[in-house]
Amino acid sequence: MTALTVTAARKSYGAVPALADVHLAVPTGALAAVLGPSGCGKTTLLRCVAGLERLDAGEIRVAGTVVAAGRTHVPAHRRQVALVPQEGALFPHLSVAANVAYGLDRATRRDGRVDEVLALVGLDGYQRRMPHELSGGQQQRVALARALAPRPRLVLLDEPFSALDAGLRASLRQDVRAALRADGATAILVTHDQGEALSLADHVVVMRDGTAVQDGPPAEVYASPADSWVARFVGDAMLVPGVVREGRAHTALGAAPLHGDAGAGAGRPVTVLLRPEQVRLSPVEAGSAGQVTGRVLRHDFHGHDTLTLVRLDDGTELQSRRLNDGPPIGAGTEVRITIHGAVRAWRSEALPATD
Ligand code: ATP
Repeated sequence: MTALTVTAARKSYGAVPALADVHLAVPTGALAAVLGPSGCGKTTLLRCVAGLERLDAGEIRVAGTVVAAGRTHVPAHRRQVALVPQEGALFPHLSVAANVAYGLDRATRRDGRVDEVLALVGLDGYQRRMPHELSGGQQQRVALARALAPRPRLVLLDEPFSALDAGLRASLRQDVRAALRADGATAILVTHDQGEALSLADHVVVMRDGTAVQDGPPAEVYASPADSWVARFVGDAMLVPGVVREGRAHTALGAAPLHGDAGAGAGRPVTVLLRPEQVRLSPVEAGSAGQVTGRVLRHDFHGHDTLTLVRLDDGTELQSRRLNDGPPIGAGTEVRITIHGAVRAWRSEALPATD
């Protein structure tokens, strides 16, 4: 079952095309993230799905029912879609319980749903507090409880953590995911933070310039991005030239199996994507021919891992990421470089512009 289907959606504000041609499908029960840079149309997409904006063209279905297409525009309050905005969503003069109960019918209020959703977001016992007596993170959890309370077919979250500091954001992400899972909700989260999208969602939609350029499980989008722009947007990316032979990408750093089809016949030039964790450094082996070597330039320490910059003999610079489970390799050390795991590659001449 598909909770949300968007087909050929278009929406312009005057001459600005906010949605150019969006296609996407979100399975029921999924936690999907819409990821893209500022201005790519994420909020517009959410507002069209919620019914707060009209599409110029295309179709939106929620749980199989058409809610927007042609002249059809089901009003927001009849879509069973709940939107959690960035911040400030609570009524300041109502208690936590009254905020959550707002808009619920009497039967739902009576069946204990308010207490149930407050427990889900970890705020049981906070029913009588007023919004100004809560921290920013607690306020966002009440906003989520209010969205979940009427059991909507879809919960939309518009950068719900952007106003919070980094530590709180990380813990609230996990709480929100747990609450959505426990309630069996289907949710779509909009974010421009790739770490947030990859760690939180089980389905990622990458948007650029008003179109959805790729969607799939986070690990697939990371390991096998649709093009070099997506590759750079969802992580650290190095692009090196290579050739495909016998299903493997051959580069100056060695050969690696391919992720999917590189769209290249045997012997055709390709551009190969390397992630820093695929670049491994080891001591140079004396007397061993054919090894690729370079010199360590510097390290960037990131707590549980370190990013090491290496310069090859031909001047190419590469990043290598490894866990901090041993002593760092000193700057200036000569190291052997090998590639690990499967790589994504594109036909060189078909490589899209990376601007
Ligand atoms: P951000 O991450 O910065 O919130 P976004 O990806 O959510 O960005 P949108 O807010 O959907 O992007 O905006 C898409 C484009 O449409 C942008 O160029 C924006 O300037 C434009 N836009 C959005 N809302 C309006 C509006 N009400 N009137 C005119 N232009 C608008």
